Amino acid sequence: MLVVEDESTIATAIAQRLTAEGWKVEVARDGLTAVSAAERLRPDAVVLDVMLPGIDGLEVCRRLQADNPVPVLMLTARDDETDMLVGLGVGADDYITKPFSMRELVARLKALLRRVDRAAQAAATPSSEPPIVAGDVVIDRAQRRVMRAGEEVHLTPTEFELLVMLASTPRTVLTRERLLAEVWDWADASGTRTVDSHIKAVRRKLGPELIRTVHGVGYAFEPPTPPDDAAGA
Ligand code: CA
Repeated sequence: MLVVEDESTIATAIAQRLTAEGWKVEVARDGLTAVSAAERLRPDAVVLDVMLPGIDGLEVCRRLQADNPVPVLMLTARDDETDMLVGLGVGADDYITKPFSMRELVARLKALLRRVDRAAQAAATPSSEPPIVAGDVVIDRAQRRVMRAGEEVHLTPTEFELLVMLASTPRTVLTRERLLAEVWDWADASGTRTVDSHIKAVRRKLGPELIRTVHGVGYAFEPPTPPDDAAGA
């Protein structure tokens, strides 16, 4: 586990907690050190603060994903910063807004690693689940791939599980709390902004119409063709 944070009190607190959870932890305090540490250590995941001296967390995340893709949990200062990062598509798998509890951080990391494991297992042993077809979007659950208009679209493991969760029950509203519990294994409603951020990311990649917002409640998957036709496609 690699923790990238220049504020030493936060870095130390995170490192201590993750070590107590049984992970081997290394701390980097600036962006360039983080990139070289990730190359050397090949960590299971990276906890990455956005605000860093030298190259910032954004650029660190881009470089990590370009060299050796690794699950990244990003620490952001505000919810609108999370939105901005999602919009830029830097390739982080999850975001957590400061201040956060160590309990939440650990829960998020464990859930992230489980999603990554499931993705790896699915790649090794493809299931026979039929693809979900919605207009020009095809969600291949067996191969965990998503195509739009014949082109493969890269989703992070988190985005993929969120999409499949919604697409498995088309035209049904799932609350943000339910999505948070199922995809993130996180029961505390304080994290619902995380759901919104990831919905934005999925819409940016697959088009805005596929997922409908039900204000104050949650989201619903809206395939453009009736479910009967979609099932036969
Ligand atoms: Ca910082």
